[in-house]
Amino acid sequence: MRRERSARRLTGIGFDGYAIGGLAIGEGQETTFAMVEATVPFLPADRPRYLMGVGKPADLVGAVKRGIDMFDCVLPTRSGRTAQAFTRTGTLNLRNAGHADDASPLDPECRCPACTGFSRAYLHHLVKAGEILAAMLLTTHNLTYYADLMAAMREAIAQGRLANFQVPT
Ligand SMILES: [Zn+2]
Repeated sequence: MRRERSARRLTGIGFDGYAIGGLAIGEGQETTFAMVEATVPFLPADRPRYLMGVGKPADLVGAVKRGIDMFDCVLPTRSGRTAQAFTRTGTLNLRNAGHADDASPLDPECRCPACTGFSRAYLHHLVKAGEILAAMLLTTHNLTYYADLMAAMREAIAQGRLANFQVPT
């Protein structure tokens, strides 16, 4: 009810876009989505809707399905600095010894420098050695992954198949 009142007051003023905030502070995906559903119907469809501080790939997909257009989040860059990589098959931790002898790329479908120029084994080595290049490459990869994810959702919307769009959780 408060979300609706706030949305109505703000749209009454008439802004170029609208942010939904006060979420992504540890409340869980279900609550975030419930608040998005309680707010989006009261925001104009011809203005960007921005969900602040979200999130993981599955959060982005769920929010876009509920009418969100824009996000900001530290996750792709912070994760890159802590050896986490988002891929089309799920999240990887490059600190994990299981990558030590893996000559395959991080994500074979990714066009970024980390995926086209280095193996998982080498990225693992960089992480273990504390090389700043590990953080640089994994951050670049994660940002590329997020940009590609948003592009894929735009394509799915244009083709009318967003409802079936999913990412590994
Ligand atoms: Zn990549």
